[in-house]
Amino acid sequence: MAQNLIVILDAIKSHWEVQQSSFIDANTQTLTLPLVINALKALSFALKIQHSENYMQIYIATGNTLVPELPENCKAIQGTIWKATARALCYINSAKIKARILVIQKSVVPGEQDIALNLMIAAQQLKTEIDGLAFTECEVLAKTSAFSGGVFMRQNSIGILQTLLQVYLPINRPRTPKMHFKPYCNCCNKQVDRAYVCSSCLAIYCFLQPNCTKCFSRLILPDCI
Ligand SMILES: [Zn+2]
Ligand SMILES: [Zn+2]
Repeated sequence: MAQNLIVILDAIKSHWEVQQSSFIDANTQTLTLPLVINALKALSFALKIQHSENYMQIYIATGNTLVPELPENCKAIQGTIWKATARALCYINSAKIKARILVIQKSVVPGEQDIALNLMIAAQQLKTEIDGLAFTECEVLAKTSAFSGGVFMRQNSIGILQTLLQVYLPINRPRTPKMHFKPYCNCCNKQVDRAYVCSSCLAIYCFLQPNCTKCFSRLILPDCI
């Protein structure tokens, strides 16, 4: 069976300028963006060898900067990986194709859990698996993968090509074990077991507030409580 794969690559310049010295030895090669792009080219070749009709596209999330030269089958998306993932899901929906998504994340972005939650639900409705490969602690991506039935891995060495070929190439990939999804409170950004939910935008709060800070609706408790 032919596979369609859309790879979302975090290419935001500031993410790659930070030295992650904690998990990359000084005497090994540093993980760089060109190294990841080369590994993705090899993955694309391997997919073609696996099945001649396999097709891979790369969406490069560039933040606010422009990438001067793009490899073949690449598309630059201004914004974060989450925006690029949304674009990929829109494409899958409009083209009515069966595809899977692989998100490669270098660094977390603030406030990503809100957009990720919407994407998880969209991916579930489209029956699209979102695989995740992270180079740092990316909890939101791990949850997105687990929720959509994809596989998540944290890469802590430069052996990225091996990981791509062994984990993300096969049709029958391992599954991320089910995770406990505790939502984040909107006011304090902590995970909560029980919370108040805004009925218009579904934002949650650990205590009852007079107005929703997201959509500015008035929050009132029903009389029965
Ligand atoms: Zn709170
Ligand atoms: Zn609201």
